[in-house]
Amino acid sequence: MAERKWTNDEATQLIELAEAGLTVDEIGERLDRTGGAVRVKANRIGVDFYVRDIGKFPAKRRSEKLDCMMCRLPMVSTWAGNRICDSCKKTELYRCS
Ligand SMILES: [Zn+2]
Repeated sequence: MAERKWTNDEATQLIELAEAGLTVDEIGERLDRTGGAVRVKANRIGVDFYVRDIGKFPAKRRSEKLDCMMCRLPMVSTWAGNRICDSCKKTELYRCS
């Protein structure tokens, strides 16, 4: 089964569900993905999961407080390599570069 590409919306949902205390498998069910795929993506975007079995820390975002490389406004990055805010991504400049 090939992995579908993650959209920004799905990544945001992943973060919200993780923060709500859902496990990778529960999040996978909601997003129609495998638990493994959710775990890989979560790692990539810096989400720590609440692990019920061992009562680990609650999920939280690690990487925040980035400034957009184009407009210099603060933005929330849903993955580590994302340095351009959503509004700048819609501009022609970004599409052509
Ligand atoms: Zn921007």
